[in-house]
Amino acid sequence: MSRPRRPQLTTVPDHYAQRFRDLKQEFQQVEYFCKGTLLKRMMKCGKAQCACRQDPAKRHGPYLEWTYKAKGKTVNVKLTPDVMPLFRAASQQYRKLKSLLNRLERLSQTVLRHQAKQAQSANRD
Ligand SMILES: [Zn+2]
Repeated sequence: MSRPRRPQLTTVPDHYAQRFRDLKQEFQQVEYFCKGTLLKRMMKCGKAQCACRQDPAKRHGPYLEWTYKAKGKTVNVKLTPDVMPLFRAASQQYRKLKSLLNRLERLSQTVLRHQAKQAQSANRD
């Protein structure tokens, strides 16, 4: 009895392999990141006679918040103006990370399809 043939090692075209290495390199440049949204919120206070009750333009603030979801719940973190740039940068890093991950995923799909095709045609011989 002949043993079932193992799929041959598939090769990845150089330009895909190189692109994959380049994208992985880009991960090295990712700095601290945060997902979520940075908000400036105007609030009403609890005082019955305060102008904020009637006039939306007289609400208090802005109050800065960082909002994100964790385990299905919304988390709000109050921020002071001096830390806003830090969180803006972190938020930008998160977008960069996601875009990088998407590009890696698309490339991986392309390569895997290519490899699957190769393996299938090798086994067909
Ligand atoms: Zn008020």
